Amino acid sequence: MKRDKLIFKLLDEEQQRQEEGIELIASENFVSKQVMEAAGSVATNKYAEGLPGKRYYGGCEVVDEIETIAIERAKQLFNAEWANVQPHSGAQANAAVMLAVLNPGDKILGFDLSHGGHLTHGSAVNFSGKLYEPHFYGVKKDTGYVDYEQLKEVALREKPKLIICGASAYSRDWDYEFIRAVADEVGALVLADISHPAGLIARGLLTDPLPHCHIVTTTTHKTLRGPRGGLILLGKDFENPWGLKTPKGEVRMMSALLDMAVFPGTQGGPLEHIIAAKAIAFGEALSDSYMKYIVQVKQNAAAMAKAFVDRGYDIISGGTDNHLMLIDLRNKNISGKAAEKALVSADITANKNMVPYDDKSPFVTSGIRVGTAAITTRGLKEKHMDTIVELIDMVINDPENETTLKKVRKRVHKLMEDHPLYRDKHLA
Ligand code: PLP
Repeated sequence: MKRDKLIFKLLDEEQQRQEEGIELIASENFVSKQVMEAAGSVATNKYAEGLPGKRYYGGCEVVDEIETIAIERAKQLFNAEWANVQPHSGAQANAAVMLAVLNPGDKILGFDLSHGGHLTHGSAVNFSGKLYEPHFYGVKKDTGYVDYEQLKEVALREKPKLIICGASAYSRDWDYEFIRAVADEVGALVLADISHPAGLIARGLLTDPLPHCHIVTTTTHKTLRGPRGGLILLGKDFENPWGLKTPKGEVRMMSALLDMAVFPGTQGGPLEHIIAAKAIAFGEALSDSYMKYIVQVKQNAAAMAKAFVDRGYDIISGGTDNHLMLIDLRNKNISGKAAEKALVSADITANKNMVPYDDKSPFVTSGIRVGTAAITTRGLKEKHMDTIVELIDMVINDPENETTLKKVRKRVHKLMEDHPLYRDKHLA
């Protein structure tokens, strides 16, 4: 077969972009070489519909072993009773949960997208807002913290079947115990989507939702530092409270309903190469070196938040408990869109983001979201956070000045050259 030079040339360019720039997108990270190797392995060739030991295809003995190891490691990492490692993504994991526990038209209560929630938590443009009846809670205008009283008020009024907590752009810990108490009062299930802080939760740096929430979903590629993918967990398996039936008319335990909602409910064949990469990433996340890494992620985020505040930036809620922060740029007279564009031209990647009570559209926005998961993998420490914020500040104060952008770009390249990515042995 002729080598596809065009695509490999583009992949080289992408690698160079990743090596040279400062990566602050809070949902991104750099996987280890062995995770990447597994993701590009022969397991991509295998069809394996079903679950280990119960497949609809022959020749699954080896991938059965791989998937079983992935499940066992996920359970160990999160102290869970049950796991499904097949969701192709975080959105797929949430789709499967909703298919398992809801009927079309049922009410759901999620964290408002414009306050930091995710599309799959009831947004009108997503299946979750189209198939179900979405209601929302948000953050308090004065504190930037989740408005738990509002959550309770809407829950008591609407009596949703599912309450969703977790977010894409929220820098604080969650009170899962309170949410569960509200859910019990109205007869709802609680889904915690821990896609962003999963790594911090797994290693005990944030409140663990598993003892409180009925179902937990996560992506595997953010702080968890695995391949792109999804995961569903149960702290404890339980009977479905509404006696929901499988397509065959049987009332089953939640684990069985969730398994069926992934396949055949929302997916076909699982991606066994990605499941192999997930197994490796879960193993890595159980290691001492990952523990050091994830502690550093949190310390870097705290140092970065302080550096922003010291330079007069308005961080929603005033700081961070996790790996990310949302910055309201309205006092800097620049939109999120313009800031993102200027930063990208200085080889600093961040994303524009709505801030709570934003007066600009989702395409323009008043904020940017930044996170420390990826730069910490590059080996950056607290002392570098001040430098990064200084560079961001230079760009934001002078976003159209090519001389400034060039100066920043040069310093960005030097910093990252000193912290190599795939040339570095710690990613081996
Ligand atoms: N849930 C949350 C909270 C997220 O932040 C994301 C992704 O950003 C997802 C779900 C969706 O994950 P994916 O992009 O893998 O579908």
